[in-house]
Amino acid sequence: MKRRLLLSSLSSSVLMLSLSAVAAEKIDFESRYQRPSSDSDEGGLWGYMDREEDKVKKSPFLIRDAQFKDYLSAIACKLGEAHCPDIRVYPLMVPLFNANMAPNGMMQIWSGLMLRVDNEAQLAAVLGHEIGHYLARHSLQRLRDAKSRSGLGFVTGLFGAVGAIASLGLAAGGFAYSREHETAADEIGISLMSKAGFDPNESAAVWENLQLETKASTEGESSGFQQLFSTHPLPKDRQDNLKRIALLSPGNIKNEELWQNKVAPYLRIWLKDEIKRNKFDSTIALLNRLTQREKNKSEYLFSRGEAFRLRNKGEDFQLAINDYKAAVLWGNEPAEAHKGLGLIYKAKGEKDLAKASLLTYQAMEPNASDSLLIKSYIEELES
Ligand SMILES: [Zn+2]
Repeated sequence: MKRRLLLSSLSSSVLMLSLSAVAAEKIDFESRYQRPSSDSDEGGLWGYMDREEDKVKKSPFLIRDAQFKDYLSAIACKLGEAHCPDIRVYPLMVPLFNANMAPNGMMQIWSGLMLRVDNEAQLAAVLGHEIGHYLARHSLQRLRDAKSRSGLGFVTGLFGAVGAIASLGLAAGGFAYSREHETAADEIGISLMSKAGFDPNESAAVWENLQLETKASTEGESSGFQQLFSTHPLPKDRQDNLKRIALLSPGNIKNEELWQNKVAPYLRIWLKDEIKRNKFDSTIALLNRLTQREKNKSEYLFSRGEAFRLRNKGEDFQLAINDYKAAVLWGNEPAEAHKGLGLIYKAKGEKDLAKASLLTYQAMEPNASDSLLIKSYIEELES
């Protein structure tokens, strides 16, 4: 059964606008996708994705928290409507801004994306776009285009299992979706999020926030969302189109507090992974934004302090000290805020301050993996 689902719930003015934006192209899709026969080219694609999905299930990066996974699945389900039973969500600990949905129904949501979105509506904007590619069968069309050249190589670029991230980044650029597919996925995405009640204006907010990081990253520094941008290029007119359609689409749910409560247990580890990327300019730009949040403020302040301390350019040590102290003042700071202070004071030769901070760290985390090293520092400072 074919149906014209995507624009049916929108007002007629939106319908006309959307149709003009996609040059009156009709986007029809099945109410559910059945598994194709294994000797068809689509069947081959599904089989390949099934094997990738097995790797994801065993991946050490998979977040194995059934409640959290169910929570994310419920959001994807609201967007996917009748396709809900076919969507299988996998949250993964990868500090890059990315989500994707493979033709067999496997949906990956990476932690770098979850760290960056402010609310459920922003997550829904990205997932709706990915579901849009799925509904419109863009990957199958890409497969047919790419078959003579590269076989399944592009599939790894678009949906590859984590663990091959390095090669993924390289592969992805050459296998981006076409401009037409991006525009179509944008419009399906906005329609889906609007129908699910989410505020469609949050879609443009996602991209605006990401651009703060792009602008801050220095030459040669690849940013955390390079992955998404390379597979989903977002030129200015596409962004303007998103904004225009959003303004005319209903929906006001953001669920900001709920979202931030759900991700709170993961923040510390996601922020650690973000710092480990060693892309401090874009990380600091990200944290300039996140430190404005009220909830878990000390985690963000501490992390920005870490980024300043490790970048160590110009006034960075002083900026790090300011952030660590602000995290302590705010309360519930990670013990490592005191370690960071201790290391900077030690480097500056301020022995008493260094010793006091390291002792506080030691008292808060007596069994830390670096406890012997910290003990030796304290002894060194006493001598
Ligand atoms: Zn896309």
